[in-house]
Amino acid sequence: MNNSQTIKNEKKSKKIFSKLAIHGGQKVRTINFPAYKTIGKEEEDAVLSVLRSGILSRFLGCWHEDFYGGSQVRAFEKEWAEFFGVKHAIAVNSATSGLCIAVGATGVEPGQEVVVSPYTMTASAIVPLIYNAIPVFADIEDDYFCLSAESVEKNITDKTKAIIVVDIFGQPYDVDKINAIAKKYNLLVIEDCAQAPGAKYNGRYAGTLGDIGIYSLNYHKHIHTGEGGIVVTNSDDLAEKMRMIRNHAEAVVDDRNFHTNVNMLGFNFRMPEIEAAIGREQLKKLPIFIEQRIENVKYLECRLSKIPCLHMPKVRANSSHVYYVHPIKFDQNIAGVNRDKFVDAVKAELMPIELRESEGVKIGAGYVKPLYLQSLYQKKWVYGKQGFPWNLYENGKRISYQKGICPITERMYEQELIIHELIRPGMTKKDLDDVAQAFEKVWECREELYE
Ligand SMILES: *Cc1c(COP(=O)(O)O)cnc(C)c1O
Repeated sequence: MNNSQTIKNEKKSKKIFSKLAIHGGQKVRTINFPAYKTIGKEEEDAVLSVLRSGILSRFLGCWHEDFYGGSQVRAFEKEWAEFFGVKHAIAVNSATSGLCIAVGATGVEPGQEVVVSPYTMTASAIVPLIYNAIPVFADIEDDYFCLSAESVEKNITDKTKAIIVVDIFGQPYDVDKINAIAKKYNLLVIEDCAQAPGAKYNGRYAGTLGDIGIYSLNYHKHIHTGEGGIVVTNSDDLAEKMRMIRNHAEAVVDDRNFHTNVNMLGFNFRMPEIEAAIGREQLKKLPIFIEQRIENVKYLECRLSKIPCLHMPKVRANSSHVYYVHPIKFDQNIAGVNRDKFVDAVKAELMPIELRESEGVKIGAGYVKPLYLQSLYQKKWVYGKQGFPWNLYENGKRISYQKGICPITERMYEQELIIHELIRPGMTKKDLDDVAQAFEKVWECREELYE
């Protein structure tokens, strides 16, 4: 037998005796994980009561008492503001709509710039473009994955109007440093808190740490109303502008003698009464859901932290983390195999979540592609093909979205970060044991993955 044949045969026999499910071995788990279901009897009763009233929305798009919506919407806003210790809460139909009214309320001008994160859900970066303003990407922190204060400051120019920070994965951004930068350059801080409702920094709730905060109420988030969002601020002026943009601003400004027309182009971002009624019940449950996530992470980390190639997430000083997902850093030098192969092997050991079977095992390698690599930014095509709004000013044409502009983000995406959702309420100790066992098994059998 020649050499290459020997190797081939060795590989074959290895395959037969392999333990890893990805090579045909027994899976660690053969039944689905429990469904993510946070809706109960309380929401059901609340919905029925609104439904029976027949008034499913009470908004009017003109200057009238009902400009502010119906009783459920207003009660939800009041309760939200009280819970989070903030003056104004404005319910909308999604966090994306919330981000949109927030950027509009800043009074941003066409061609001005907004510093954004490349490592977040796509909406937090594109909203400036709605107002013909330009997203400028700063890099993230190696430890916490939020915007890096240092990189933010480097990306500020005389055209910068605001910073959209993101409490990514469930913990607050670098509040002290970034708020100080905003003060120094007279910028507004918009806090995308979609992934961190209930997280705290120095005793204050995430979402209330900047000038405007936005929470999401879509199905995937800590609490939800199906689709929905809510925006908070302590500024009376920003709050009123946001309420205008939420509800047909241009049809309201004249009758109400509103003090500005800038960005007062209205939408219909109104939250219906049924969603508001669900939201009120969900808000009561938020503390319990957060506790369950933190407990699940703690339990899982007891075992995962013993696997040498995995590094558990760090929590910033004076902060709490509410784990929208559980981010884990992977060291390929220790593992001797790259992250994607390792993750594929772990996924092969496990099963999908009930009711979301088609999404596969909810463990991801890399989170999202750095947003500036989307073709929208690569081509600078949004409104037509001539590069509008980047072509409004010289600076806009120079703004780069080339690969390499945010090296930490790219490294997290390509090599280091693993995120998973298998810490959500509904997971039992046995479910978590299976998750841990899958990681442990792949670590122990990692040589099967060596080429
Ligand atoms: C989910 C999410 C959004 C968007 O929320 P929607 O309510 O679906 O519009 C925005 N930003 C972040 C960071 C998110 O996770």
